[in-house]
Amino acid sequence: MSQPPWMRAAAGANVYDQESGRVLPTIYERTTALGQQHGAVNLGQGFPDQEGPAWLRQLAAEAVGTDAGPSNQYPPGMGFPWFREAVADHQRRWYGVALDPQTQVMHTTGATEAITASILALAEPGSEILTFEPFYDSYGAVAALAGAELRTVPLRAPGFRPDTAALEAAVTARTSMILVNTPHNPTGTVFTEAELETIVDIARRHDLVVMADEVYEHLVLPGADSSHRTILSIPGAEEVAVAVGSVGKSFAVTGWKVGWLTGSADLVNRVRGVKQFLSFCSGPAYQFAAAEGLRDDHGFFAQNRDALGAGRDQLTEGLAGAGFAPFAAEAGYFVLADVRPVTDLTAAEFAVQLAQEAGVAAIPVSSLTLPATQQDRGDELNHLLRFAFCKRPETLAEALNRLASWSSSR
Ligand code: PMP
Ligand code: GLN
Repeated sequence: MSQPPWMRAAAGANVYDQESGRVLPTIYERTTALGQQHGAVNLGQGFPDQEGPAWLRQLAAEAVGTDAGPSNQYPPGMGFPWFREAVADHQRRWYGVALDPQTQVMHTTGATEAITASILALAEPGSEILTFEPFYDSYGAVAALAGAELRTVPLRAPGFRPDTAALEAAVTARTSMILVNTPHNPTGTVFTEAELETIVDIARRHDLVVMADEVYEHLVLPGADSSHRTILSIPGAEEVAVAVGSVGKSFAVTGWKVGWLTGSADLVNRVRGVKQFLSFCSGPAYQFAAAEGLRDDHGFFAQNRDALGAGRDQLTEGLAGAGFAPFAAEAGYFVLADVRPVTDLTAAEFAVQLAQEAGVAAIPVSSLTLPATQQDRGDELNHLLRFAFCKRPETLAEALNRLASWSSSR
């Protein structure tokens, strides 16, 4: 008998516990809870430990509290027209992409809803979805919910570059979709223009749809080899690709859950077919503040990028000093480190030990891989821990002191 949808979704994100028959919280929430239990510094779940810009938060507060802002009643299902215009204007200014705000931009409740709606709308049941591994956990959950099979192509250390030849070799007659995440969580890889062109070309030749998750678009850090390109700036992408964005990461307000989907009027309309029955609509005040911020970030993107770059450098050096083997991160919130120089345990086992003994919480990258990959103890992805650097310098310093004293005490 086939599994019920809740079980498929949970299993797809590695959160179905066979023994108890119960759904576990996501790896992010579990790591935060584990950290709290042991008084650990939380370098697990990717959220900043200081608030986003005060002017932006003030706009949302005013929008809720005064009659000058949007009403607190239902916004349109596609999002407020001025929100969609602000997104279209942002895509034009940053990437030179022209979008009709009426039909080619849709507001979503975070990137999460855009991802969910896109996969449910565009992947046929029984089909295969391709993505690079490790991958953001919701891809696995929603692919399973859609009745599709997630198949992966590994990103390998040290560079974690997408192997587009391997991607094409993985395409079968059943493949329906390619999920791309650039800049990539958790590796920090920024896909180059050439890599994106190849992916679009593969999609066109094999009649596939591409969903590009671009939530880290404004977090390409100093020293990166490439700048971010939205998939829709690649010639020929319009017929085959949708792109997903979010203000959560761009403005350090991860709880806001203001996202959007862009693409051709036809693809956006299809995704709307699912989206309007998930949340229908949300967050009028947040849409208001986000629209203002997208039109003028008041220098926050550059300032945030520099602060994150400094955090990345501080964490990378400190991890190396504590005996780990960290990899260079070009973008995003995270540094990956190979734990084999300091332990014989897998990263999943070691993450628990580290929270308990050293007082530092981090995410095992194996939680962001397929179960088959996790079972292979020799697979390098099973020996990587993800540490978040989107924290204040003093938080990072405290975590690094703890790691250094833990490693020198052994
Ligand atoms: N995609 C990736 C790659 C992420 O890391 C996250 C977490 N921010 C999301 C999607 C979800 O974004 P949101 O919080 O806007 O739903
Ligand atoms: N995007 C964040 C991360 O990768 C967390 C998202 C979540 O908690 N669902 O850590």
